[in-house]
Amino acid sequence: MHTQPRASISRSNLAHNYKTLCDLAGAGEIGAVVKANAYGHGVERVVQVLAEAGCRTFFTATTDEAVDVRTAVGQDAAIMVFNGVPDEKADLAKAHKITPIINTLHQLRGWRMHGMNEIGPAVLHFDTGMNRLGLRPEDREAVTEMLDGCPVGLVMSHLACADETDNPLNAAQRDAFLEIAAHWPDARKSLANSAGLALDAAAYGFDLARPGIALFGGGVPMPASVPQLRPTLTLEAPILSVFMASKGASTGYGATRRFGRERRLATVAIGYADGFPRASSNSGFGFIGNQRCKVVGRVSMDLTTLDVSDLTCPVAPGMMVEFLGSRAGIEEQALEAGTLGYELLTGLGSRVSRNWCD
Ligand SMILES: *Cc1c(COP(=O)(O)O)cnc(C)c1O
Repeated sequence: MHTQPRASISRSNLAHNYKTLCDLAGAGEIGAVVKANAYGHGVERVVQVLAEAGCRTFFTATTDEAVDVRTAVGQDAAIMVFNGVPDEKADLAKAHKITPIINTLHQLRGWRMHGMNEIGPAVLHFDTGMNRLGLRPEDREAVTEMLDGCPVGLVMSHLACADETDNPLNAAQRDAFLEIAAHWPDARKSLANSAGLALDAAAYGFDLARPGIALFGGGVPMPASVPQLRPTLTLEAPILSVFMASKGASTGYGATRRFGRERRLATVAIGYADGFPRASSNSGFGFIGNQRCKVVGRVSMDLTTLDVSDLTCPVAPGMMVEFLGSRAGIEEQALEAGTLGYELLTGLGSRVSRNWCD
C-alpha cells in the first residue's frame, strides 16, 4: 500500500499546451519559462518535452538553473537568466552559452568587464512601470554609452497586471516599452508572460513571449480562439485510515473542527511538508473518484483529514485522493488556501515522487 504522495506529469498535455500557446502567438516565438525546477515539475524532463515540441528559447531565474537546462537540452537552444549572472558565475555562463539578462547598470558593467558579450548580443530588461526589477528608462543614455557599440539582441519588459483585463497599466506599460525599444530597432522585443498572451497576444506577444504557468495549464483562462490548456500535473495521496468520528468529537491539532453529528473521516498521507498548504485547513478539498470532499481540521506536516461522509463511492485505505489535477482544479485549490497555483506547484515537496506518463 502507498503511504506517500505522488505527482503524475503528462508529457502530452505539456506538449499540447506549448503548441496551443504557439498557435495563439501566431508569428511570434514562444519561449518557455522553466525557473524553479520548471514550476516544480522537474526541469530536465520538461525542457526535453518542450524541445521536442519545437521550443528553442528557455528562461530561468538563476545561472545554476540555466546550467541544468543546458545539460538537459544540448547546445542548440538559447537560455536566458532573468536575474542576471553574478560576477563569480560569468565564466560558468560563458562555458555553457548562457545569456544573462541585464537588469541594472551594475550588471551591465559586469557584463562588459567579464566579456560576456562573447556569448551573444546584449539582452536588456527595462522596467516600464512594475517597479520591481529592470533598467530604468531614464538610464537609457548611460546604457548606450556603456554598451560601447555592442549589439543589442533583445529588449524586454514585464507586465504587472496582465491578469486584470481592464487595468490601464497594461496599455501604459506597452506604450513605455515601445518607446524604449524604439532606440534599438534591430533588437527583438519581449513583453508578455502567460497572462499577457491571454490578454491580447497580438498586442503583447511581440517577437518572443515568455509563458511559464500556462505551459503547465494554470494561470488565467486562454481566449476561446484556441483549445483549452490542460493541467500537466496530477497530485495524489493515499488514504491511510477511514473511521467514524462521533457527534461532538473534533479532528486534528487545535481541535479546530468539531462535528455536530457523526461523520466519516479519511486521513490521507499528505501535509504541508509536501506542499499542501496549512492554509488549506478547513477549506481545501480532494477528489475520490469523481466525488469531492472537504478538508476538515488543520492540515499537519504529513497528514490531512477529509470528511467523506457524503460520498456514495467506496472509500478505503490505499485509495488515492486527487488534490491537484483535472478534477481538483489548481486555481480553485489555490483560492481556498489564499494563494496562487504558482505557489502550489513550486512548493511541492521533495517527498512527492514525480512520475512521467503518456
Ligand atoms: C516568471 C516570469 C515569467 C513567466 O510568468 P508566468 O506568469 O508564469 O507566465 C515571465 N517573465 C518574467 C520576467 C518572469 O519573472
